[in-house]
Amino acid sequence: MNTEWMARGKCQEVAPDIFFPSDGMGVLVAQKICAECPVSAACLEYALENHIDHGVWGGCSERERRRILRRRRVSQSVSVG
Ligand code: SF4
Repeated sequence: MNTEWMARGKCQEVAPDIFFPSDGMGVLVAQKICAECPVSAACLEYALENHIDHGVWGGCSERERRRILRRRRVSQSVSVG
């Protein structure tokens, strides 16, 4: 998978541990940075495809990514029949 987008992430400008918060407030701080990131869509897709279950990626928390993956599984099973 292409990871060139990583070099353009907003998170390159801040401490990496910001994206591995321990509480909801920390998640909001990370999400604020992701909201201004030009590669957030690629970042989110990378985390989903690689089943990364720690940290904020593409503006989504672990819980939000689990929800997205669940929705995708449901819609795939509906379309497959
Ligand atoms: S979306 Fe967030 S975690 Fe992903 S590259 Fe951008 S700033 Fe970093």
